[in-house]
Amino acid sequence: MPRRSLRDVVHAAVECATVRPVGNWFDTAVRCRNQPNRVPCRGYVTVKWEPGEITWLCPDCGDSGSVHDWEGGDSDLREFAADPFDDPEHELLLSPSEFAVLWGLDELRYACPRLLAACTYRDGRVEMAGSRRELMYLLATIENLETPLRGEKLRAVDDVVRYVAATLEDI
Ligand SMILES: [Zn+2]
Repeated sequence: MPRRSLRDVVHAAVECATVRPVGNWFDTAVRCRNQPNRVPCRGYVTVKWEPGEITWLCPDCGDSGSVHDWEGGDSDLREFAADPFDDPEHELLLSPSEFAVLWGLDELRYACPRLLAACTYRDGRVEMAGSRRELMYLLATIENLETPLRGEKLRAVDDVVRYVAATLEDI
């Protein structure tokens, strides 16, 4: 997977911060882009949102930055932060590589913005919490992807689809 640019990191930080509460540091499921001594950092970005400023920090390597001019941009997900539907949240545990494939699909990030941006890496797994509606959107979007997936990506997405479908059946 190609290393992400600064622009991608800024986008990701704003997406992840604006679906979380203001004022504290929060873990995300977004991998650090830094390569100290040309070795890709294995850390995950943390984000903090305060009035006027979003800051990100990788606790593993210390890579950090801040954004001020984010309000109203297409990474500003505040309008999606609260699910207006009174629907319980369902917890799923993904592998970091499964999450990375989902996160890399622009159509999915567009269709299910809060669901992906609110994911959190913890103890080797990525925690995803979604409403039934969000999970159904996820399945429908994957079913209608314009670019067919191949190889590893296809296998990862197939596994996620089976997992999400089984979770929805249990509800
Ligand atoms: Zn790092």
